[in-house]
Amino acid sequence: MEIADIFRQHGEAYRLTHGATLLPEQRRVMRAIEECRTAALGAHVDECDSCGNRLISYNSCRNRHCPKCQSLASAQWVAERQADLLPVDYFHVVFTVPQELAPLSLWTSRPTCMLLLFMASLLGDGTVLRFLEHPKHHPRRAKDKPLSVNHYV
Ligand SMILES: [Zn+2]
Repeated sequence: MEIADIFRQHGEAYRLTHGATLLPEQRRVMRAIEECRTAALGAHVDECDSCGNRLISYNSCRNRHCPKCQSLASAQWVAERQADLLPVDYFHVVFTVPQELAPLSLWTSRPTCMLLLFMASLLGDGTVLRFLEHPKHHPRRAKDKPLSVNHYV
């Protein structure tokens, strides 16, 4: 069973009972996932240049929240980040910066921007520090190790 199956089976009932709490973007995401790779979005034909074999497939939604559409992109992104890892024992923390902060990267130099975001991540609500200190995540006390924080805007 996939998230799309759950949304298709229960999405409409959920929207009827919780619709007032859903943001328009959340409704769009639910609808995109429900319709992804179904007749609702149409279909396309792939044809092999060598043998002429044809494959008809439903179109994907390409929504960035759709697990089916983003699974390949996600796997590629993780593989690229793993290639960046240093051959030492450290913790690599990745944040997604809210779109509203993207202009910050235009106003300041990259090192300054990175430092500001790094300090905000450490001093903000303490989430990063709590994560680093939690023995469940890091039984050998992450605070004693070097820390790398990369921000992707
Ligand atoms: Zn999709």
